[in-house]
Amino acid sequence: MAKIKYQTPSGMHDILSEDYAYYEKVYEIVNDIARFYGFGRIQTPVLEDAALFEKSTGATTDIVEKQMFTLKTKGGDELALRPEFTPGIARAYVQHGMLNMPQPVKLYTYGPLFRYEHPQAGRFRQFHQVDFEVFGEESPAIDAEIIQIFYAILKELKFSHLIIEVNSIGDSQCRPYYKKLLANYLRPRANSLCADCRRRMRQNPLRMLDCKEEKCQRIKAQAPQIIDHLCDSCKAHFKSLLEFLDEADLPYHLDPYLVRGLDYYTKTVFEIFSDRTVQVVDEQGEIVQRSALVGGGRYDNLLKILGGKEIAASGAAAGVERIMAIMKDRGTLAMEEAKPRVFLAQLGDLPKKKSLKILEEFRRAKISVAESLGRDSLRTQLGRADKLGAEYTIILGQKEVLENAVVVRKMETGEQETVKMENLVDELKKRLKR
Ligand code: AMP
Repeated sequence: MAKIKYQTPSGMHDILSEDYAYYEKVYEIVNDIARFYGFGRIQTPVLEDAALFEKSTGATTDIVEKQMFTLKTKGGDELALRPEFTPGIARAYVQHGMLNMPQPVKLYTYGPLFRYEHPQAGRFRQFHQVDFEVFGEESPAIDAEIIQIFYAILKELKFSHLIIEVNSIGDSQCRPYYKKLLANYLRPRANSLCADCRRRMRQNPLRMLDCKEEKCQRIKAQAPQIIDHLCDSCKAHFKSLLEFLDEADLPYHLDPYLVRGLDYYTKTVFEIFSDRTVQVVDEQGEIVQRSALVGGGRYDNLLKILGGKEIAASGAAAGVERIMAIMKDRGTLAMEEAKPRVFLAQLGDLPKKKSLKILEEFRRAKISVAESLGRDSLRTQLGRADKLGAEYTIILGQKEVLENAVVVRKMETGEQETVKMENLVDELKKRLKR
């Protein structure tokens, strides 16, 4: 049998309690904002049919082609660890007949996702996203609302200098023509493109606009822009979106080459960056990419691709680890250590046995208590109580237990009083009020 390495798999991490506070802070704000904007929480399985992602995310996307963790069950089903949320939520919308509910249906979720990436700064194989999706609404107002929601989440997390990049990538009316135009532009330049882009040029030339290779970036800079080739309906949608963003004072910037790497987007695509965004660094230590905190857009074709009816939809996701990295770097969340008001010191076996019951009484009374159930001396325990900033220490010795009493020590002055065990919580309530 192979030796255990006591090491998480590459690109995956334990979340230790000091970091968990950041996740909780993010989720707390997300829950508040979701409630305000009328989004209901949904939780889909971590595993889905691999075919779901092949069909929706797209068989030629990097996510499906290179990054999906797949497995075969004993029964022969091909499953995949979800690399993104949208397909699973869209599947749930169809499966549970949510199209018969009053539209739009607004859903949000958060949790772990899995992509077989080359692990590097800001890129993990297991990471977390916060995801919002709206089904059954065509209006660009919804695209703007989603942008506003993610902007608000980041603002509440004290991010400043946020940049929203927006673009429209058209729809099945106008995109095919643009794709042809782009392929025609790329063909004579094929020799100057990276190997991936030469392949992309045939399969899906739009993806070339996403390439981070410097030589491809240079070619991209002169490429035709889709914005100049949108059909009337996409043009009107985009114009209206920008008006909504203007009215809402959301600071956006138009990036005519923003396409995002997935097949299902139509019309609006957007990303949000912070000026402190984590940089992705290559093996030589060169910054190769400024990584987005949030990415999303409209996907009016996805439900049809999945075999359902044509249902307009729009959504976005934020990367929790990237948000956290910046929060930590900035030290914004000065982690408040849970400061106990009371410390419970015990001396010996009999007192220790009483401790659990006392702790539970304090918990029910909502008074925070720290304890030390080890074999420490009174001096050590008082030292700990002091360090934690407890206002009172309850000292429970052998003698006190036999007398059904406890000693209450005021830490500031060192004054000590004996109180009856049954009155302990009430006595402390009184003292803590003062
Ligand atoms: P995407 O689903 O690729 O559009 O990504 C949405 C957001 O999730 C990105 O803007 C990142 O913040 C985050 N993200 C994506 N992939 C990873 C990864 N491998 N590790 C950490 N965060 C990621």
